[in-house]
Amino acid sequence: MKFVAGLTCHLCGARYPAEASWVCAECLGPLEVSYDYAAVRGAISRSLIESRPRSLWRYLELLPVSEPRTGFDSGFTPLVRATRLARELGVAELYLKDDSVNHPTFSYKDRVVSIAATRAVELGFQVFGCASTGNLAGSVAAHAARLGLACYVFIPHDLEPAKVLGAAIYGPTVVSVEGNYDDVNRLCTQIADRYGWGFANINLRAYYAEGAKTMAFEIAEQLGWRFPDHVVSPVAGGTLLPRIFKGFRELREVGLVSGTLPKIHAAQPAGSAPVIHALDAGLEFPEPVKPDTIAKSLAIGNPADGFQVVKVVKETGGAGASATDEEILDAVGLLARTEGIFTEPAGGTTLAVARTLIQRGVIKPTESVVICITGNGYKTAEVMFDRVASPIRIGRSLAEFERAVGARLPARAAGARA
Ligand SMILES: *Cc1c(COP(=O)(O)O)cnc(C)c1O
Ligand SMILES: [Zn+2]
Repeated sequence: MKFVAGLTCHLCGARYPAEASWVCAECLGPLEVSYDYAAVRGAISRSLIESRPRSLWRYLELLPVSEPRTGFDSGFTPLVRATRLARELGVAELYLKDDSVNHPTFSYKDRVVSIAATRAVELGFQVFGCASTGNLAGSVAAHAARLGLACYVFIPHDLEPAKVLGAAIYGPTVVSVEGNYDDVNRLCTQIADRYGWGFANINLRAYYAEGAKTMAFEIAEQLGWRFPDHVVSPVAGGTLLPRIFKGFRELREVGLVSGTLPKIHAAQPAGSAPVIHALDAGLEFPEPVKPDTIAKSLAIGNPADGFQVVKVVKETGGAGASATDEEILDAVGLLARTEGIFTEPAGGTTLAVARTLIQRGVIKPTESVVICITGNGYKTAEVMFDRVASPIRIGRSLAEFERAVGARLPARAAGARA
C-alpha cells in the first residue's frame, strides 16, 4: 500500500481514497488503482524481485495491499516454450502462460482473488462473495475458507458439475440463480449494496483487477525481462486483457523493462462475442448479447470492462477473433496432444483464435507470441468425452495384448525386444 496513490476514475480522472468504491460519483466511470510510480522506481529492481519467493507476491510494490495475507502462493505459473505446437501453427517462437496449474484452484482467477481477498480483510469485511461463471466461485470460496470469512457465491444454474463442487467443497453458501451470468451480476450488485458484503468482482473490483496485472509481470520476467511481440488473451468480463497491458506499461514506467509494448489480441467464443462484434463494427462500447457457448467461463454477454478491452486492443494495434464451439474443442485436443496441457474450453478459445490470427497474417511467423491458458480441463472433462479414443479392452494375457494392439504398433515399438 506504500505506493498506492488512491483510486482514479478511468473516464473523468476524478480521485478517491483506496476504499471499497467501484464507480465514480461524478460520472459513473470505473475506478482504477493508481500508484506513485516514481517512488516505486526507486524501491524495486530486477534482482530484488528475483530474490523473492516464486509467487505473485514478489511484485508487492505494484499491488494495492499492505502485505500478503492469503497464505497461498498464487501466480508464478509456468511460461512454457511450446515447440511442437509452434510447428503445428507455423510460428517460430510460441509460449503458453499456463494458469491451468495456478494455486489454489487451477485458474487465472486465483490471481485476482489473491488481491481482492487480501484487500477485503484489510478493509474489515466479514463476508466475502462474488458473481461467477464458475472459476471465480471456487477461488473465492477457497480463499474465504483459508481466511475464516463467511462466504456467499452466486452462479448461473447451468454450470458444469465439477465447477459447482469445486466451490461447494470449501463450505460457502452457493446460490444458483435461474438466469445467465449477467442476471447473477445484476442481483449481486443489489446485494453488495444492501448488505455491505465484500464482492470480489463488484465493490472490490478495482483491487481484483490489479491481480490480473501479475500475468504480464510474470510473462516479461520469465522471458528474461523483455516483452513478447504478441499476447492473445481470452475475454469474459474484460478484466484480464486491459490489465495485461497495464502490467506491461507499468514495468516500463518503473524502469524494469524497455522496448516496444506488445500487441494484445482478444479471443471470445462465437456464442458470446460482444467485444469481437464491437471491434468488427468499429463500436467504442460493445452491445450486449445473449451467450450460448460451450466455453461457460467466457459466457458473459455484457462485459463490465468491455469498452476498456476494445480501447486496449485498438491502442496496441491488436486484433480480435472468435472461435466456434467445434474449433474450441479441437484446440483443447490439439493443446493436450502437442504440449501435454489439458485446458478447459476457455483455453481452447484462446488457442483457436491465436491459430486464426496466425493464419490471417496478423501474427507473423517470425514474431514471438504468448497465449494465455487460463483454466484447467479437469473441471470440464465431460466436454471431451466423445472426442478421445476409448481404452482398448483386453483379457489378462500377452497373447490378448498382441492380438488387440500388436498389429497397430509402430515399427520402433514393435521391434523393441526383437
Ligand atoms: C474469468 C476467466 C477468464 C477471463 O475473464 P475476464 O473477466 O475477462 O478477466 C478467462 N478464462 C477463464 C478460465 C476464466 O475463468
Ligand atoms: Zn468519473
